[in-house]
Amino acid sequence: MRQSKLFTRTRKESPADEVSRNAELLIRGGFVHKEMAGVYSYLPLGLRVLRKIENIIREEMDKVGGQEVLMSTMQPKENWEKTGRWQAMDDLYKVGDSSGREVALGPTHEEIVVPILKNYISSHKDFPLYIYQIQNKFRMELRAKSGMLRGREFIMKDMYSFHTSAGDFENFYSKMQDAYKTIFSRVGIGHLTYMTFASGGTFAKYSHEFQTITPVGEDVIYVDEASGVAVNKEVLSDEILNQLNLKKEKLVEQRAIEVGNIFDLKTKYSAPFDLSFTDEKGEKHPVLMGCYGIGLGRLLGTVVEVLADDKGIIWPESIAPFQVHLLALGDDETTSAEADRVYKSLSKAGIEVLFDDRMNISAGEKFSDADLLGIPFRAVVSLRSIKEKGIELKKRAEEKGKIVSLEELTRTVLGETS
Ligand code: ATP
Ligand code: MG
Repeated sequence: MRQSKLFTRTRKESPADEVSRNAELLIRGGFVHKEMAGVYSYLPLGLRVLRKIENIIREEMDKVGGQEVLMSTMQPKENWEKTGRWQAMDDLYKVGDSSGREVALGPTHEEIVVPILKNYISSHKDFPLYIYQIQNKFRMELRAKSGMLRGREFIMKDMYSFHTSAGDFENFYSKMQDAYKTIFSRVGIGHLTYMTFASGGTFAKYSHEFQTITPVGEDVIYVDEASGVAVNKEVLSDEILNQLNLKKEKLVEQRAIEVGNIFDLKTKYSAPFDLSFTDEKGEKHPVLMGCYGIGLGRLLGTVVEVLADDKGIIWPESIAPFQVHLLALGDDETTSAEADRVYKSLSKAGIEVLFDDRMNISAGEKFSDADLLGIPFRAVVSLRSIKEKGIELKKRAEEKGKIVSLEELTRTVLGETS
């Protein structure tokens, strides 16, 4: 894509009303636009990152056998009354229309997915089932000061699993733990993300949170480096440490943000809707459920938060908006023609290129924009690089670049990203 055609512009100044580093950088880069506290629109660059995260998550959910759906955002009040959450859920958006009807804006989808499945499944032969979606959620968050980390409108992948036995649920639950680890590694924060034991509420002993270490995180966790697991401060007791075989003196306290969460729901939502199955003997039992969430915007914000340096964002190659940021330095015809040739050749090779072909912009400005936008490879064409018979290639995360041929540039980018 030609940067001269991109309708968004970078900004030098931080937005005055934004205190979080992730939102500051994303807004300055033109990835997102802030509408109000906790509500952001995705612009072309941000949407490209979001789509890549979405595809990684979708691939991993499909691999474990998930069936994708897209459920409604407006949800009937009756369903929420049935589970008791119309009253009990503090952060539920309740919306009324002029006819006096009230609906919930979905903060989660148990109240929708369970009644849907009731229409289709009733025999033990229909199980197990794994249903997921990637969709906007709404929650009345009191504090929405962490940018993309805590939205009032935000995008979540939510999966719901349905089982006829505890053993079958547990098998799948551990598969999902592995799928989550794969997802966080693939988006580039695996090394900072720990599976964390947290309280399971009234129904199950534990839930598992996937917590990414960052000083701006709202949670406090205790990490056992040796085993790679952690315990949330809220559940840290001698009894739990014993059960998990962890030694208190070996745990390191860290601040962290929850990028994903998986739960054993047992019959909490199947019971109120009477979602049940008949076994081989024709006896009726309630269905067992699990649920599995990941916040996509929170994940995107977390990547920015934990990988950025003082100059700007550093995208992992797997989710970068483009693979190469090609900079034409100088408005002379020789430079423009050569940069154009490089742009066309890289694009033809299937490489995603953001081509800074803007005229009357200083080299310094193009460099600082490249640092802010954080595209993994920076390729510079200038009279100097042309004289040296090549293109200056530098990785965003590295200090020094080198002159390479167009063939070498192509090979390096393809080799490292495919
Ligand atoms: P938190 O404790 O941070 O409020 P939660 O326990 O309410 O999170 P879940 O209901 O388990 O979150 O939602 C699943 C996932 O959705 C979370 O792990 C997180 O990644 C994401 N998420 C939850 N709330 C928000 C939010 N307000 N903004 C962005 N992402 C969110
Ligand atoms: Mg919450």
